[in-house]
Amino acid sequence: MNYKIAVIAGDGIGPEVTRETVEVLKTIGTKYGHNFTFSHVLAGGCAIDATGQPLPEETLKTCLESDAVLLGAVGGPKWDTLPGKERPEMALFGLRSGLGLFANLRPAILYSALKEACPLKEELIKDGLDVLVVRELTGGIYFGERGRGHDDRLGETAYDMEVYSMMEVERITKVAFEMAKKRKGKVTSVDKANVLESSRLWRETVNRMAEGDHSVQVDHMYVDNASMQLVRDPNQFDVIVTSNLFGDILSDEASMITGSIGMLPSASIGSEKRGLFEPVHGSAPDIAGKDIANPIATIMSAAMMLRTSLDLMEEADAIESAVSKVLDAGYRTADIMSPGMQKLGTKAMGEAVRKAIG
Ligand code: NAD
Repeated sequence: MNYKIAVIAGDGIGPEVTRETVEVLKTIGTKYGHNFTFSHVLAGGCAIDATGQPLPEETLKTCLESDAVLLGAVGGPKWDTLPGKERPEMALFGLRSGLGLFANLRPAILYSALKEACPLKEELIKDGLDVLVVRELTGGIYFGERGRGHDDRLGETAYDMEVYSMMEVERITKVAFEMAKKRKGKVTSVDKANVLESSRLWRETVNRMAEGDHSVQVDHMYVDNASMQLVRDPNQFDVIVTSNLFGDILSDEASMITGSIGMLPSASIGSEKRGLFEPVHGSAPDIAGKDIANPIATIMSAAMMLRTSLDLMEEADAIESAVSKVLDAGYRTADIMSPGMQKLGTKAMGEAVRKAIG
């Protein structure tokens, strides 16, 4: 089969980690008889330098014409003084809205070989950890009305409004249910329905959808309790579905449990099959160009891409098991290094994963 993949290497370590990932995909293509065509396009700081815009029209067009988008990272100190709307990170908002991506999937997986990197006690994580946070990405307080005002008694005031429609809750819940069906079948919806009206609509909607689909087990948790339960007993969770704001915080908390940011993939999807796949980490300007960045988060994002956008399950499994094999063999990049292990650079780690694919 032929597949078109748009590649946005971006800034900082982005080009280094995407280069290794593209090579991994080529290895998969050769092994399984697929033809991946890669279109390299600009976004972020490098796009500002080349075109004056963080997300050139050509980039979005190429992404829309592709089966999936692979992104490294954008941003860096060079562009930090630009005004908000002109900053590299605006490319991410443009891509999300331009591609209609409303769900962010962040698996927090702790590999047994990396147990020592987990800050929790061993008895809490037992045989590892595998939680998927499904975060609503285009609604809620980050996109609601905001402003400043003045109150005679209180002085200066500010407000940000949390608004959710039933339709937005339904579509993100549907994504969470679909994901749960491919996993352990459990969805925990996280809200603050004891206080917020928007959360009450969220909970009613999730309940109504659960009544119509008995193949998933659904429960609810207040966000304050969820943040505590994640560190008390993370394995009680399978899929967590939540709003933009709560998901932002809980997905970072869940990912910290796994130890290293260099290991964590993510996917953003919408109602079409085409998604955007990127590591959770940023452009890491402090280590850019030194061949020490961990490429595994991006490589694992490519595995999510194969499974989610291209329906290539066996190929996705092949990448994931190659990464496990490499870790079990004791290979580590600097960020996950521990005594007795063998340290590899970015390129050598990419090469090790490709060899393990066979
Ligand atoms: P960061 O994730 O880039 O780096 C945080 C720390 O983690 C740094 O010490 C870095 O060296 C380390 N790190 C990150 N990825 C690593 C990897 N693959 N291997 C080894 N170590 C790794 O976060 P930051 O420093 O807050 O942000 C740097 C820039 O990235 C900023 O301009 C920020 O706006 C941008 N950013 C972009 C995205 C994105 O493109 N999606 C996400 C987050 C931050």
